[in-house]
Amino acid sequence: MTQNSTVVAQMRQLIQMLAKHNHAYYVMDQPTIEDSEYDQLFHQLKALEEQYPDLLQADTPTNKVGGRPLSKFDNVTHVVPMLSLGNVFNQEDLFAFARRAEERLPNQQIEYDVELKFDGLAISLWYENGILVRGVTRGDGETGEDITQNVKTIRNLPKVLTSESGQIPELLEVRGEVLMPKAGFEKLNAENEAKGEKTFANPRNAAAGSLRQLDPNIAASRPLAFYAYGIAQCQPHHNQTTMSASLQWLTQFGFAVGERQFVCQSIQDVQKAYEQINQERPNLSVEIDGMVIKVNDLKQQQQLGFLSREPRWATAYKFPAVAALTAVENIDWQVGRTGTLTPVARLNPVAVGGVTVSNVTLHNIGEIHRLDVRIGDTVSVYRSGDVIPKVEKVWPEFRPVDAVEVHLPEQCPVCSSPVVMPEGEALARCSGGLYCAAQRIEAIRHFVSRKAMDIEGLGDRWAESLLHLDLLKDVADIYHLHEHREKLLTIEKMGEKSVQNLIDSIENSKKTTLASFIYALGIRGVGETTARMLANTFQTLDALREADLDALKKTPDVGDITAEWIIDFFRASHNLEVVDRLIAAGIHWDAPIAPTRQPLNGESWVITGTLSQMGRDEATQMLQALGARVSGSVSSKTKCLVAGEKAGSKLEKAEKLGVQVLTEQAFLDLMKEYGVYSA
Ligand code: NAD
Repeated sequence: MTQNSTVVAQMRQLIQMLAKHNHAYYVMDQPTIEDSEYDQLFHQLKALEEQYPDLLQADTPTNKVGGRPLSKFDNVTHVVPMLSLGNVFNQEDLFAFARRAEERLPNQQIEYDVELKFDGLAISLWYENGILVRGVTRGDGETGEDITQNVKTIRNLPKVLTSESGQIPELLEVRGEVLMPKAGFEKLNAENEAKGEKTFANPRNAAAGSLRQLDPNIAASRPLAFYAYGIAQCQPHHNQTTMSASLQWLTQFGFAVGERQFVCQSIQDVQKAYEQINQERPNLSVEIDGMVIKVNDLKQQQQLGFLSREPRWATAYKFPAVAALTAVENIDWQVGRTGTLTPVARLNPVAVGGVTVSNVTLHNIGEIHRLDVRIGDTVSVYRSGDVIPKVEKVWPEFRPVDAVEVHLPEQCPVCSSPVVMPEGEALARCSGGLYCAAQRIEAIRHFVSRKAMDIEGLGDRWAESLLHLDLLKDVADIYHLHEHREKLLTIEKMGEKSVQNLIDSIENSKKTTLASFIYALGIRGVGETTARMLANTFQTLDALREADLDALKKTPDVGDITAEWIIDFFRASHNLEVVDRLIAAGIHWDAPIAPTRQPLNGESWVITGTLSQMGRDEATQMLQALGARVSGSVSSKTKCLVAGEKAGSKLEKAEKLGVQVLTEQAFLDLMKEYGVYSA
């Protein structure tokens, strides 16, 4: 293909896409893409046309206004065409707009009228001797639809003009926007939802859909409002000299105008007004999609005139796009602190909602499949308010032939351990929990925590510093820290005493229980209780390492998915190396009490209220040593409830279910009997 034919093909594709979206938006009132996405396609086409003016296509939409009239209503030709507005999206473009006006009005001071840009439907209203005789949609700008019957049902629109001055123009053509204020829109949608009827995507579609009803009773039932923003004709002339004054003049007849309006002496002040309204936007009663900036002086407006579909004296300054199109340059996999693998799309940087977005999470492999996103694709990135940007959709129309499909990696990109994703799980994970650098800090924090190896201070205070000094590559290095006393002393606030305390605490932790050790390994799904059940069932670490899926699934408290995580953990050779080094460093434990010798084996107990002679943790440990499972809630499966002071709803529930209840004293007596308590 020659370059020209490639450009023409691109132009044709954009024209076709824009035509499809124009139809959905203007005729069906059901847009399928965000306005800002539409604007980007439109600007892409415009940019091509500017670069290759010789290739301009006759049917391009860039020089006409979007809507074609529907055939159901009578068509009316506008005496004064209803044009559109140019767009600017940032300060630079705004200033360029002002510069162009200044160049055409040399040595003149320019004042700007800044109005809300209503996101509704443009209409034109004819008043003859003060009587509303016709209401017409903008249509394609030249010809619109006669919707007089519907327009007459709009409550805040004067059907007959009266004025205190008594002077009513013979002919007045007012331009403005019909929209549905936010409150009415929400109410209408809520009512429709309750009735199981269709809801509207936004107030603009709701307003357009209501005005297009052939039955005026339907329009009458919708909370529509009209806001005036200009005068197309007035006979005799209204004698106002500025835009802002002419709008003010209209209000005497009962026309509503925007709730906010500014007159600015400089384009810098226009920028400030725009920023202010962008902030106030959520509190306005109507939906707006930007501001309209107009040269205020009507004579200057005339001098500036028009350029194809747009006046040179006005422009729309749209609010930052909530959605934008961009290309996916790559998709990387990030490994989180807990080992989850998250795909991240690296984007060609693009402005969305006022910030530049260059990375966006794709969450998981399922989302990649759902979107069918490939490297090289063009995607829409969406962001609204504070919400994190997300890829909303892929544009298959723009897919290059060499787009690359993305698969879940088989090995962790950080540590090369196998990546696993049990069936039914959405997230894939690195199985090298003890070894993987991405999971190091989390693994260490967990390993040293009180219910694991209980090494005081290390987790909260020193872990990060030790990592920075490269003293901890994995948890087994903890037991070699005593070889690095000198380096430890370089850590801020770490004196001789702290170093000694830390080393002592590490030394003391070597004597532990098998259950605590299993828990400390941080295997996914293996909490304290599961770890204890595994210790009791398998009795030795070797037996657990060798256990097959069936044996694991039979262990109390171990579900199918956890069983798989355990297998995966011990299958990752890097993890086994770390475990071996830990044992070699001297970690040891007494053999757990065999389940057959545990009198409360498998029973479910609950503790509630305040115990006066011990903490709940201690009571829990005693019960667990006897083989019981301590749960947080009472059910019919509960064997016994220990009720301390101020026991509340759990006690009530136990009584209702007929569960055995023990007072604190009765509980302690029982523990004495079993030999786990003496006082
Ligand atoms: P526009 O919305 O960009 O701006 C011009 C219009 O602004 C005027 O015709 C007028 O109706 C309105 N307006 C509101 N407040 C005004 C004020 N204070 N003074 C003067 N005019 C004011 O242009 P458009 O031609 O009406 O519509 C094109 C826009 O519609 C596109 O930029 C796009 O965002 C949207 N669109 C979206 C889709 C889609 O599929 N999502 C399709 C077609 C068009």
